[in-house]
Amino acid sequence: MYIVQIASECAPVIKAGGLGDVVFGISRELEKRGHAVEIVLPKYDCMRYDHIWGLHEAYKDLVVPWYGAAIYCDVYCGWVYGRLCFFIDPHSDDLFFNRGCYYGCEDDPMRFAFFSKAALEFLLRTNKRPDIIHCHDWQTGLVPVMLFEVYKYHGMEDQRVCYTIHNFKHQGISGTDILWATGLNREAYYFASDRLCDPFNPFALNMMKGGIVYSNFITTVSPHHAWEAHYGDCGYGLGHTIHEHQHKFGGVLNGIDYEVWNPASDRYIPHHFDADTFEEKAKNKKALRERLWLAHDDKPLVAYVGRLDQQKGVHLVHHAIYYALHRNAQFVLLGSATEKGINNWFWHEKNHLNNNPDCHVEIGFNEELSHLIYAGADIIIVPSNFEPCGLTQMIGLQYGTVPVVRGVGGLLNTVFDRDYDNYHDPDKRNGYVFFQTDNTALESAMDRAIGLWYHYPKEFQKLAIQGMEYDYSWKNPGTQYLSIYEYIRHK
Ligand code: ADP
Repeated sequence: MYIVQIASECAPVIKAGGLGDVVFGISRELEKRGHAVEIVLPKYDCMRYDHIWGLHEAYKDLVVPWYGAAIYCDVYCGWVYGRLCFFIDPHSDDLFFNRGCYYGCEDDPMRFAFFSKAALEFLLRTNKRPDIIHCHDWQTGLVPVMLFEVYKYHGMEDQRVCYTIHNFKHQGISGTDILWATGLNREAYYFASDRLCDPFNPFALNMMKGGIVYSNFITTVSPHHAWEAHYGDCGYGLGHTIHEHQHKFGGVLNGIDYEVWNPASDRYIPHHFDADTFEEKAKNKKALRERLWLAHDDKPLVAYVGRLDQQKGVHLVHHAIYYALHRNAQFVLLGSATEKGINNWFWHEKNHLNNNPDCHVEIGFNEELSHLIYAGADIIIVPSNFEPCGLTQMIGLQYGTVPVVRGVGGLLNTVFDRDYDNYHDPDKRNGYVFFQTDNTALESAMDRAIGLWYHYPKEFQKLAIQGMEYDYSWKNPGTQYLSIYEYIRHK
């Protein structure tokens, strides 16, 4: 099959969170199985150019119709660890992708509406006719809309779209201007409640809703989150739309790329290990402590890696720092915040804890350090308010780091409580789960994890090794996505 991924991220060259990992991971898995995959991305000024090989201009002067006129783009091509990527570089005074950031601009809906249009125009003009176009999140929600309303009539009638929602919270809400900009026009038509009209605001358009309505199949990134989005309040207003389209909706658990995330070969960690050489993990703990100037005491090391955002349960992350210290454990935090208040809050904590030999708060995005943290920590916490899938717990498991998670979304599909799980034998359990959003709930789970580390170290090690034995690679999700592709191709 010939598959084109259209996305706003692809790790490690463009990565703000899990979306980047997923786009890279699924593409590699599909290629490993003999399918042809290409990835279309924006050419941001701030992406990691050092991770692209052979970047060169592949198409000059792509004319993208825009507001009745046109924007000229150059399309660059390069390889990101073997994946063939095309980067769209518009020449426009709007400087769509030259903002020093991936997201967070006021005109984000317009930037990514343009990207979606340019990606389709690129496929059309270069005669690329993939069997499947796989798009991701609100940024590419307009791809199926434009494909089936416009491009279909220009020679792209055989393409099928799979649309994956990684986060329902961000939906790409915009005004009528995107209709005029993209040439979709026909306001009254698109504002219909069964098309793009936002469920909360009848005067706004919802790009993610467009993706749901128009795609041939929609997935979200774990089976439990699919249920939450359909029946609970995790759809952020799109539950009804999902319900209407339930026949083409499902949850596919994300994988992690075991070539990137493998403690036996990870190029960012000093001591390689696997389940049979688990004792080597302790050397990474030592290396992590040396790097972050932490004391070398006989204490467990608890870590948090992730965005500092309401979604991630920052109030519990904050509490976990002090509870770990109170329980005589060490704590390492690596995270970045886009919200000013949260950023200031954690900078304040960082300054406050600066001289504490048992705690390190690192604010920013640091891929290399994250690998060392996964390898060196004993426990990783993921106390999210909601979590569509969550990669950090799966990476933690792979590195023998015991996850302590809140039982929501994909966390519930991947972590099974050592003491209370009803469905798995004791030798198949791999972490700790709590359910409420208050400090006491978090404490009860952290307490059990830290207590096991102190009082039953052999049992703790056994639990960590049981976690390493889980297969959360792209093998199973790869098969599931392929069967979805096959299904929509022949429908
Ligand atoms: P989300 O996509 O909601 O941000 P996920 O758990 O799905 O969360 O994916 C997070 C990914 O981003 C993981 O690979 C994690 O290691 C990485 N990550 C998050 N924050 C940072 C950071 N500050 N530095 C390095 N890597 C990070």
